[in-house]
Amino acid sequence: MLDEYEISRYDRQIRLLGVEGQEKLKNATVLVVGAGGLGSAVLTYLAYAGVGRLIVVDREYVELSNLNRQILYKDSDIGKPKAMVACEKIKEIYPKIQVECYNRAFDREFGEKIVKIADVVVDALDNWDDRLLLNELCVKYGKPMIHAGVEGWYGQITTIIPGKTPCLYCIRPLRQTRRSDVRNPLPVIGVTPGVLGALQAAEAIKLITNTGHPLYGRLLIVDLYSMEFRSIEIKRNPRCPVCGSIS
Ligand SMILES: [Zn+2]
Repeated sequence: MLDEYEISRYDRQIRLLGVEGQEKLKNATVLVVGAGGLGSAVLTYLAYAGVGRLIVVDREYVELSNLNRQILYKDSDIGKPKAMVACEKIKEIYPKIQVECYNRAFDREFGEKIVKIADVVVDALDNWDDRLLLNELCVKYGKPMIHAGVEGWYGQITTIIPGKTPCLYCIRPLRQTRRSDVRNPLPVIGVTPGVLGALQAAEAIKLITNTGHPLYGRLLIVDLYSMEFRSIEIKRNPRCPVCGSIS
């Protein structure tokens, strides 16, 4: 049940989602893996939207070069664990929100425990090894996963429903993009993960409240350089080793 404060706070979106929709958000648990550029945007918007419980996983520490795009952090956070700072910021947005923060790598052992307790999973990662592991666990536990990736002025996003839509393995790049590292970082304009992270938050709100048309079987490609957005149809691979045997 929403209290009077919540009815007032979320008045503008209750007009779209109904009180029941807002209650669904309040009762939802969203796992966000990665608290970088995408994670900063998606966590901020989900906290403002009134999602009741957020789980944040990130093993990195805030660095100066993060501060063109990772909008949860500021200069005084440099050297602190991102997951912990992210949780402090989320609490400032809405003190009643439940947050669980894990300053650790996303590996199989941990993923097995954490994915199954989420209602919706957000891939805010920056590398395909971890993404494909997250995808595999979401398929295993039947959890919806909202994937996004960014580089430069470009981004892509799709929403995966195991057994219904292509999984990430079905559409993985044949030549995997390299992992961004300290010596050779991927270039990125700060707003790119901001836009894609906001789109991920919109998809999460739609999934939780059963509203609108999520990106099922569609990959939205965002090109902020030429300011063109287009979605392409994507298909399941019936021989996919991850999702091919489930329906
Ligand atoms: Zn698949």
